[in-house]
Order: sequence, then C-alpha cells, then structure tokens
Amino acid sequence: MKRIIVAIDGHSGCGKSTIAKQLAGYAGYRYIDTGAMYRAVALYAMEHGLDTEEQIISALPDIRIVFQRTDDGSQHTLLNGQDVEARIRTLEVGNRASQVSPIRQVRQFLVEQQQAMGQDKGIVMDGRDIGTVVFPDAELKLFVTATPEVRAQRRYDELTAKGEHPCYEDVLADVLDRDYRDTHRQESPLRQAADAVVVDNSNMTREQQAEYIFRLFDDRIR
Ligand code: C5P
Repeated sequence: MKRIIVAIDGHSGCGKSTIAKQLAGYAGYRYIDTGAMYRAVALYAMEHGLDTEEQIISALPDIRIVFQRTDDGSQHTLLNGQDVEARIRTLEVGNRASQVSPIRQVRQFLVEQQQAMGQDKGIVMDGRDIGTVVFPDAELKLFVTATPEVRAQRRYDELTAKGEHPCYEDVLADVLDRDYRDTHRQESPLRQAADAVVVDNSNMTREQQAEYIFRLFDDRIR
C-alpha cells in the first residue's frame, strides 16, 4: 500500500476539518489544519497591534507555528511556544485571518511550511488552496461544500456550545462574507481543482460521509 497526500479544500464551515480528522484517524496519517496557521498569524497581528500589510510582512520571521498532539489525541496550535488553540477559534480571529490571508508574503511563508510537512507523504491537509497550490499533485483531492445556511447553522451551534451568544443572521452574513473574500481574492482564491472529488455534505450524516471518503481513500492507496 502506498502512502499518499490527501488535499481537502472547501468553504468555511463545511466540515472540512471533521472529514480531515476522520480520514487521518482511519489512515493513520498526520492531520494539518492550515486554517489554524492563518488564524495564528491573525492572532499575532491582533496582539501586536499590526494593522498594515507592511507591518505584518516584516513580523513574519518572528512567527513560529507548530502543532502539538495532546494526551486526548487532539491537536493544538502553538504560536511561539504558547498554546493558542482556544483563542484562534473565535469569530473575530476567523475574520481577521481572511484579511491577512490575501497577503502574498503571508501565503508564501505558510505554504512553504505546509509543503515541507508533506515531504514524506502520509498526510491529510485541509484549507482553501491545498489541491490547487500547496499540493497540486496530491493523489486524493476532495472539495467539500454545503449550503451557506447549513454552514451558518453549524457554526452557530459550535459557537453556542462554546458559551458565545451569536445571532444567526450575523453568523450567516459572516459565512457569505468570508465565502466572497475567499473566492474573490487575487492570491490563491478558493476554487475547486479540476481533479477534485466534490463532497456536498448538506444532507449527509457524519457516518455516510466517512464511509464515502474512506472508500475513495482505499481506492487511491491500492
Ligand atoms: O478554515 P478556517 O476558517 O480556519 O480558515 C480561516 C481563514 O484562513 C479562511 O477564511 C481563509 O481566508 C484563510 N485560509 C486560507 N488558506 C488556507 C486556509 C485558510 O486562505 N489554506
């Protein structure tokens, strides 16, 4: 059986990370959440009062992002040695991430690190440009999608479970806004790779989705 690279792209809040984690667990592969890396850069910029592109670009050499596996098997993002996993998951940091992500130098900085992580294959990576830019030769590419309303409801439920009190209309507006920014930016806009398999999970249970992608994976490693 060969070791492969699995590239998972798709809109925000469509359950990419759920799929990626399910598949990484099934395959015994490493999982990399590239959104967490853009979020970590955004958090750094927020905490250091970096507002302009120039300020953010010149701070890049001071930003070190690593992933650490915790005892319960989950993965935490460390920013310069500090566990920022909970802090990068807020709506505010997500929005800021989609503002810093169009900066070419930010993308170069993170894409190089992502490519290095995939050198030995055996990796499942999710993001927006994994199948198109980071690993255009990935053996399995998935493009995950769901309707904006379904995605907004899921994000609303997630935030509520964390004790935040979002308004559904705001969350939906946010989803649409982020979709627009991610698909219309000049640098690596979100788009489906020609050879990606589309997974629309609006009406799929987690189990149905898992079964479907495990089968796709099994076909590719033969
Ligand atoms: O996936 P997540 O919502 O955590 O990503 C946060 C933001 O980071 C996205 O809205 C997008 O702007 C950016 N991103 C990106 N390229 C990736 C992953 C995330 O531009 N590969």
